Amino acid sequence: MVQANSPVIHKHVYSSSFDLWRSTGAGGFVDTKLSSTASGFIKTIESGSKHLLIKRFTFRYPEEKLKFVGDGYQFDPKRGVGIAGYRGRHILFHDKCTGCQLCAIACEGIAEAIGMVKVDEQWKQNKKAIMPQIDYGKCVFCGLCVDACPFYALYMTDDYELSAFTKEHLIYTPAQLAVKPKYDGEVQIKIDRMGANHRPRE
Ligand code: SF4
Ligand code: SF4
Repeated sequence: MVQANSPVIHKHVYSSSFDLWRSTGAGGFVDTKLSSTASGFIKTIESGSKHLLIKRFTFRYPEEKLKFVGDGYQFDPKRGVGIAGYRGRHILFHDKCTGCQLCAIACEGIAEAIGMVKVDEQWKQNKKAIMPQIDYGKCVFCGLCVDACPFYALYMTDDYELSAFTKEHLIYTPAQLAVKPKYDGEVQIKIDRMGANHRPRE
């Protein structure tokens, strides 16, 4: 409430274009609108023209498929460094897995996607004959299980086609995880430390 003898404070607050027009007069309003439209138009042309010479990144899936250059994400426990790559379906090397369960423990706080299961194989490094199976209905492809494996037994691959009709089919047994994925893709993409790079078709 404004008291009778209190000073009047004039604030120039324009709540709409109409207020601005009232304040500046018709000429000022038209000038302001025209200059903002022109600058918006120039920005649009500038932004669009930047992409004219860049090769298209999208493609027609599933007629066209990705072909990754290089392997999926790996981790070198000796050097303690991750090797950049796509984080798709895992690959399990049975001849290296000791059944130590460290991958399952790493996943416990993330997604609980790994269960250790019995295998009908005898490996001298794996006395309990247990290996990880992975539920891709739960996996978030973080790669922590790969980081946790001290025996170079678990990596990720470039396999991204994991859809299934039932939840059960999303669970990959140790035998399924041992299969190296095959690719027949033609749109080449390379994943490195800078992210995904498109490779033009030859
Ligand atoms: S990549 Fe998947 S399985 Fe591995 S720790 Fe992450 S959520 Fe678990
Ligand atoms: S995959 Fe690696 S971390 Fe997991 S049980 Fe086998 S050896 Fe241990």
